[in-house]
Amino acid sequence: MTVLKASHEIPRAEFQRYSGCLGALCSAAGWSQINNSDIPCGAGPAALLHPRWLALVINYLSPARRDLVADLFRERLAVADYVPSADGVERLPPGEDPGQQIDAERLPSDAMETTETMFVVHLPSPIPPADEDLPEAFDSHFHADRTCRRLFGDTTVESPLDTLVDWTPVQAPSYPVKLVGGVTCFCDPEVWPASLPTRPSWKVSLGIHPRKIAEASPGFVSQFIRQCAEPGVSAIGEIGYDLMDGRQHLAKQHQLLETILGSTREGLPLIFHVRGAQGDDLAEDLYSKLRELVGQFRSPEQTTVLHCFHGNLKTVRSWLEAFPNTFFSVNGFCRRVKASQQEALLAIPKDNLLLETDSPYLGVTNNVRCNLPHYIGDVAQKLAGHFHMSPRELIEVCTANGRRVFLK
Ligand SMILES: [Zn+2]
Ligand SMILES: [Zn+2]
Repeated sequence: MTVLKASHEIPRAEFQRYSGCLGALCSAAGWSQINNSDIPCGAGPAALLHPRWLALVINYLSPARRDLVADLFRERLAVADYVPSADGVERLPPGEDPGQQIDAERLPSDAMETTETMFVVHLPSPIPPADEDLPEAFDSHFHADRTCRRLFGDTTVESPLDTLVDWTPVQAPSYPVKLVGGVTCFCDPEVWPASLPTRPSWKVSLGIHPRKIAEASPGFVSQFIRQCAEPGVSAIGEIGYDLMDGRQHLAKQHQLLETILGSTREGLPLIFHVRGAQGDDLAEDLYSKLRELVGQFRSPEQTTVLHCFHGNLKTVRSWLEAFPNTFFSVNGFCRRVKASQQEALLAIPKDNLLLETDSPYLGVTNNVRCNLPHYIGDVAQKLAGHFHMSPRELIEVCTANGRRVFLK
């Protein structure tokens, strides 16, 4: 049993479970869903309203709806009682079963104004630990810092990687996996981390996103290049070309790539982001321009990762020819592909495939606005058909490749 005290601190895990239950309540009542990320998590006063609001709205349901919610919550959240307490001690009526269903009659209608009471609930057990039979999965590309900002707003999260990896998603993945590691990319100069995280089997990549070119002052670029030599850095990227905002930044993006490739050490995998202008879905010219540039600075043994890959067959073949250690990392972006992209995906050798979420973007799970590494199995589930593999096979292949590239 857990008691949510009328304080400013509701543990995140409990807040998450409440959010899930709130979603179930909204569905049952036919109300529009409240998105978890719309509510500041943790220490905000809005979080305090959460259980109280829940108690209040249950009172407004018709008897039939209450029964429906009681059924829903019997599994997920059983409200035992609403117990007045002045001393912060949890109390239930003596001898009473903690309750398996909502007793709406006993919920005070003025719950919002009651400050001396505690809302006593039974929370469902945490999501069961990973089954030994689940496939081990590796998320080759995600952004722990951006994901935490989407989850918690602009609150500074001191350890975004730890926070994210230890996070329990409100909505369980539809294809659960045992998450064994991944690569978090820092690539935003304006919110550069004060220190780099260290966590076994979770690696750090440093880059300057091509769309952040305006934020990358010469001083920052020098600092960035020095930092790339630190032992905690396992890859360089994401760096590359992006013309979504127009071609006006292309020359600067190219110049930055030259500086980075010319000043950083050989050996670290390079993670590239390539995105053509609006309507240029295959970005063939950009992939080709990048390949030629990398060839000027690196040997054919260089390990390269084309993150969020969406090119055509020519791109796959030319990169593998120039750099046999090229890895094509796929994510939710590939859910709907053109015939030419499908052909390219099938031509990627199994040993050169990686799987990524690119969290917080490109979610593939319904109703999830913020993608998480925990949903990497869902990505595999959506994409496996493109590779003529089962989701499990795709996950296992990509995990082995991810370990080979980043965990050596
Ligand atoms: Zn990218
Ligand atoms: Zn990314």
